[in-house]
Amino acid sequence: MRSFAGLALLVGLSACGSEVEERARPAEPTAAGLVSLSCDGSQGLRPLFARYCSQGRNYMTPEARDALVDAASRLQARYPEAIVRFMDGSGPDGIVPFPPHLSHGDGRQVDLALYYTDTEGHPLADVPDTRNWGGYWPAEPPLPGERVACPEGRSGRAEKPDPPADRPWRLDNGRTKALVEILIADDRVRRVFIEPHLEERFGLWGHSKVRFAGCQAARHDDHIHVDFF
Ligand SMILES: [Zn+2]
Repeated sequence: MRSFAGLALLVGLSACGSEVEERARPAEPTAAGLVSLSCDGSQGLRPLFARYCSQGRNYMTPEARDALVDAASRLQARYPEAIVRFMDGSGPDGIVPFPPHLSHGDGRQVDLALYYTDTEGHPLADVPDTRNWGGYWPAEPPLPGERVACPEGRSGRAEKPDPPADRPWRLDNGRTKALVEILIADDRVRRVFIEPHLEERFGLWGHSKVRFAGCQAARHDDHIHVDFF
């Protein structure tokens, strides 16, 4: 039995190669104590664009990283194809704020992409039409009758247009709501920023961890901002 196990280990090592060994190596924390999020699609996570990793914008505290990995695993238990796509976390140096954000930087925040369907409700594998905004778009504006949080608009660069009414995509309410629910159920998550009309649509109105960032901040119906303890 022992020799079989040894053989299996040898075969495993030779078959893995350097790439897999690289993935398996635990991330060394930076001097600020931050670790990088997985960039290769393993652990149910990947950057929405490669530059979030290549530019070192994917750093988090080990505890926040673990919580996000667990959230991705829980989401895949409900939606096996769902990958959690991240945008900005923090830089490796832990400096707050992390431009262009008003916050981020200490490894306790991350921005996550929403999920979308086509107009007939079939899930889309990726986020549509985001090249100009790096994933911080397209927004899911209020439907007729839903709450409008900033009727006067937002200040400065925080203002972004609604997508066109004839757009070929819609928000995937199921997957997006599931991710928010999984996050706020985790004791390591302090709060989640989404727009009030989504908070209401998802049946989460008044939840102590679901917050509105305000009209001075970027709109949060195009991404989910997560704060960890
Ligand atoms: Zn954010």
